[in-house]
Amino acid sequence: MDTEAIVIRIKTPAGDMDSAVDCPSVLNFNDLLVAIRDVMPEATVTAFEYEDEVGDRITVRSDEELKAMLSYYYNTMNEQRMNGLLPDPLQIFPRAGKTPGNRNIHGLKVNTRPNPANDCTHAVPDSMANNSLKKSSAELKRILTNGQINAQDINYQEQLGHGNGGTVYKAYHILGKRVLAVKVIPLDITVELQKQIMSELEILYKCDSPYIITFFSAFFVENRISICTEFMDGGSLDVYKRIPEHVLGRIAVAVVKGLTYLWSLKILHRDVKPSNMLVNTRGQVKLCDFGVSTQLVNSIAKTYVGTNAYMAPERISGEQYGIHADVWSVGISFMELALGMFPYPQIQKNQGSLMPLQLLQCIVDEDPPVFPVGQFSEKFVHFITQCMRRQPKERPAPNNLMDHSFITQFNDGNAEVVSMWVCRCLEERRAQQGH
Ligand code: ATP
Ligand code: MG
Repeated sequence: MDTEAIVIRIKTPAGDMDSAVDCPSVLNFNDLLVAIRDVMPEATVTAFEYEDEVGDRITVRSDEELKAMLSYYYNTMNEQRMNGLLPDPLQIFPRAGKTPGNRNIHGLKVNTRPNPANDCTHAVPDSMANNSLKKSSAELKRILTNGQINAQDINYQEQLGHGNGGTVYKAYHILGKRVLAVKVIPLDITVELQKQIMSELEILYKCDSPYIITFFSAFFVENRISICTEFMDGGSLDVYKRIPEHVLGRIAVAVVKGLTYLWSLKILHRDVKPSNMLVNTRGQVKLCDFGVSTQLVNSIAKTYVGTNAYMAPERISGEQYGIHADVWSVGISFMELALGMFPYPQIQKNQGSLMPLQLLQCIVDEDPPVFPVGQFSEKFVHFITQCMRRQPKERPAPNNLMDHSFITQFNDGNAEVVSMWVCRCLEERRAQQGH
């Protein structure tokens, strides 16, 4: 029981900081203190407190007292669960020492574990166990300090859009001094699942590509997860409609490069569609909302039923799928962006892209749609036709996509084309809204 992962909420003057702790049984007092000091570097924290059931504050200054706190917390967690409630995080209140000069230096030396690195008499580090302990304390510190962004540091500005499951806001991160897009998704799930989602999202810190939206941080507050990413001032492609081929070509190059990068990390995007392709006035094109967290995708899917109209036929019919399914979605998305309408006329997406399964059956049963004659280049039509082959294996593989003549002809690094087009469209939109 006491190995169950928990969420610790550090109450700081600047706001709350929630952190998942995978393995509380290896947590010691000093590790937690170090983590608190990292988030409150200006204070001289020597202890912290928690609240008992009647609101009395209890001080923690040692490993023993930490154990007592955890065991008290597990009991309340159990009680809350038995009453059908989502357990609250473990709230701790850092306590500052009197003055920096007088601070009890023993507070800095509580770590009683032998540490070969500090002991010159040990010629050789004495055990693997020590290394792994050291690692877990470093790991903990990293987990606790990774929540660089928390709700209190964010000034929410306008709502950018609302999708299935989440609402996206433009926001300003006061400490980081930058504009963010924050996606807030309400999720009534257990702390255990929250923890699983947080660890699944960790791969996002490692994603580093100019064609993938930069991920800054994610955190749970009560029953909502907030995912903070880079803000793209051109928004998503679904609101642009009819995009000329020379612009679409440059966008396609970025999308194919972004997907190739994700696939190289063994990540399927799973939700390729115009609303998940973002542009900015610098002419950059980036993918967002790819499915790195199975648990997050599952938790959202439980609340929002429906099938995505951009899904490949094999996904609509519930078969196994892979990279080729993302390739289909590229085809149907770019066909829509070129035509200015969804390519299956019988499917009307009025509110978002989720539809009842029966409505999408035509994608499984019928031949893929074809372009009207004479309006688009042969290379473009060939590219889309290949991506939208009904048999997954007949669609281009990643390197064939990159080598397709439609992609190679626009792979010239010319960001200005997209940049000028985005700026012009935004101006037109502003002018329309002004009238
Ligand atoms: P779904 O929920 O089915 O994926 P969606 O993609 O339209 O649909 P969200 O992902 O919630 O829904 O996004 C809503 C809107 O917010 C998007 O359509 C886009 O216009 C805007 N948006 C999302 N992320 C950003 C971002 N990083 N920068 C600027 N705008 C964004
Ligand atoms: Mg989206």
